[in-house]
Amino acid sequence: MSIEIRNISKTFNGFQALRNVNLKIPTGKLVAILGPSGCGKTTLLRIVAGLETPDPEPDADIVFDDISALASPVNRRRVGFVFQHYALFRQMTVFENIAFGLRVKPWKERPSKREIRKTVAGLLELVQLSRLGDRYPDQLSGGQRQRVALARALAIRPRVLLLDEPFGALDAQVRASLRRWLRHLHDTINVTSIFVTHDQEEALEVADEVVVMNRGNIEQSGHANEVFRHPNSEFVMNFLGEVNIFHGRFEADKAVFDRGQNLGRDAKMLVRPHDFAISRAESSGGIPAEVIRVLTAGAVVKLELVDQQGQILYVHLSHGEYERNPVQVPDQVYLLPRASRIFRNGEDWNGDYVI
Ligand code: ATP
Repeated sequence: MSIEIRNISKTFNGFQALRNVNLKIPTGKLVAILGPSGCGKTTLLRIVAGLETPDPEPDADIVFDDISALASPVNRRRVGFVFQHYALFRQMTVFENIAFGLRVKPWKERPSKREIRKTVAGLLELVQLSRLGDRYPDQLSGGQRQRVALARALAIRPRVLLLDEPFGALDAQVRASLRRWLRHLHDTINVTSIFVTHDQEEALEVADEVVVMNRGNIEQSGHANEVFRHPNSEFVMNFLGEVNIFHGRFEADKAVFDRGQNLGRDAKMLVRPHDFAISRAESSGGIPAEVIRVLTAGAVVKLELVDQQGQILYVHLSHGEYERNPVQVPDQVYLLPRASRIFRNGEDWNGDYVI
């Protein structure tokens, strides 16, 4: 089932939470909507689910496979919803929770008891909880409860699955393992899914496509790799990971950064911590900085440095790179950006530059 969000706006008491949002999600894709708190992610998801109505613009629509979903009642949309806070029924067992959506179907559509048992058993297996069907929610861990919530959402055989910060309340380790699990699960069931998160790492790891929102607008959407490597705005680059920022000026249509002296405001260079090479030679022309911290525990070596303006800079090196050229506190080094994005008065700029 493909989803098309057409020209959707939403105003709450004069506050515009969504502004003309347009998005196409092809059948079977898992799309992450990413953005800071309050940017409108949940509102958009609730409108797709039918739990909220958009502003009545003439061309506003939510289209499932070429048919307007706005016109169909919520219970006909066949949307599965998983929320951050496990909305499981506490007085029901895991089995009963998963069966709930099937048992409350209108009499004519309701499967037989035998069919319900079979479906729930299949779902318990899918979410790897086969042995826990008789437990109550408060006898489960947070991660297990979210898997039950997912099984319950899948029981009605949704055409679309919507997940609103499903792992937001879990600790980092459980969260990381559940997102990998969700990715595998999605590859098995292939239900078109929208996943809301404010965690960029989670979005980049789980989703086929990433949609970055800011203040009710879509700033950029595309393949996770494309958005990460080619952010189209300073906001997107900043939001998708740590960056070092250098201010500069324009001279004869060239961005000039005066070796990190921050002498202007019109030019901005953003460099990710893993995109620096380090030199010991002043003649390298790099940005001078002093090493103030070296953290070697972890997948990469993390350096903290301070430049001549007192700005703290972050550099990540692979262990191999660090071993070939180890630095320590308080070495003086020169940083050479291997890749960067430059913005001219906020607009992406691809012309010449000198650091
Ligand atoms: P978070 O990550 O914190 O959940 P979000 O991106 O999901 O944030 P939304 O919940 O969609 O953001 O809210 C978008 C904006 O709309 C916020 O400023 C919020 O305060 C406002 N808003 C949401 N629902 C209502 C409501 N029912 N009445 C008034 N304002 C609302």
